[in-house]
Amino acid sequence: MEKIRLARLDAMTRAPYYAQALAAMPLIPNPEMPFPAGVDKWGRCFYNPNIVEKLPLRDITFILLHEVSHLLRGHDRRRGGRDALVQVTVPDEFSPDKPPKQQTILLWNIACDLAINSDLREMLACEPPAYVPLPEAFGLPPHRTPEEYYDQLLKEGKQLPFSGGGSCADGDPRPWEEEAGSEYRKMTDVERKMLERTTAREILNHKKTRGDVPAGLLRWAEEVLNPKIPWQQILRASLRLALQMTSVSKVDYTWRRPSRREAVMGGDFRLPGLQAPIPRVAVGIDTSGSMSDRELAVAIAEVKGILRALGTEITVLSGDVEVHTKQVIRDVARIKLAGGGGTDMRNILKAMAEMSPPPDVAVVITDGYTPWPPTRPPQLGAVIVLLTDPDGDCPAWAKKVVYDER
Ligand SMILES: [Zn+2]
Repeated sequence: MEKIRLARLDAMTRAPYYAQALAAMPLIPNPEMPFPAGVDKWGRCFYNPNIVEKLPLRDITFILLHEVSHLLRGHDRRRGGRDALVQVTVPDEFSPDKPPKQQTILLWNIACDLAINSDLREMLACEPPAYVPLPEAFGLPPHRTPEEYYDQLLKEGKQLPFSGGGSCADGDPRPWEEEAGSEYRKMTDVERKMLERTTAREILNHKKTRGDVPAGLLRWAEEVLNPKIPWQQILRASLRLALQMTSVSKVDYTWRRPSRREAVMGGDFRLPGLQAPIPRVAVGIDTSGSMSDRELAVAIAEVKGILRALGTEITVLSGDVEVHTKQVIRDVARIKLAGGGGTDMRNILKAMAEMSPPPDVAVVITDGYTPWPPTRPPQLGAVIVLLTDPDGDCPAWAKKVVYDER
């Protein structure tokens, strides 16, 4: 087997949560490039077979994990206006027949490399190759974000190392990417986002079962799985609707004031303009077989968003053709999901309507491949359907929100 493919297998064993991303990244030989490897913004990894052939397997494993990290962490998207350039010396390890030369590169590229390498060193529990820059060499703390490293390096003006890389590190296309990559399919932005979410979920699972995930990587995974739906806005609109349909006396009776403790827990996330009554919210999660792991991860992230928007406890139900779990939670980490069968969200809605007292706002998170009741259950003040699949079905009597992967 070719050395680089062996290294990819090695990388998959050492960081199992990166396996899917490593498999998705085509390895494209390109003897023209002046350093071992670089990934472009379309998820294609180019490598110089002549350089790679001379490196120990351990180094190639490190390089592949480094490149896939650029891809997953979206360094090209995150660069923003960080355009500072620095003069560096290109080391002769990669071109021994030529004398070292000065080159101008982006400071952002170095900042990204420091962030990646710091996490990789911990992930692999070994010292990286000598030519790999680490934050400690510049007096900087480990496991920080590239944004933080960029600001520090810019302020302190240190003697900096060379960084190779591809367009995935900074968004600027490299000369070989179009030509050497012409035969290879480009990953779309949506595919990249999906890969990021799957990997983030794998990292959090790995953390739960094995525990050993580098701090920077964990923080990244938690951020990726953060809610995307503007719940404050949507809940506020639904409440207004519920108000129109409910008598004032009922509203006064059902909407309780938050306890002191809840007010503290709520922190900054309290619904603006809704100081006092906090709506009672129930969330039903579709756990039928058609819901992918990714869609369930979205559901959990969005429950987190609802909790933040409200700053108080909510009831979470999960079910497929029947309701399997019903919990009152303040923290998503406590959610237990069960299901896997066919789909009928009518039963989850029925269970929410039968709650005593019933919720002011019911949220159903589903792919939408389910029968719905012909009318809104009258006990529920307002119903929001969050579709994890844009082609799914949402009844006309509910507020439809589509989860957009972009
Ligand atoms: Zn890099």
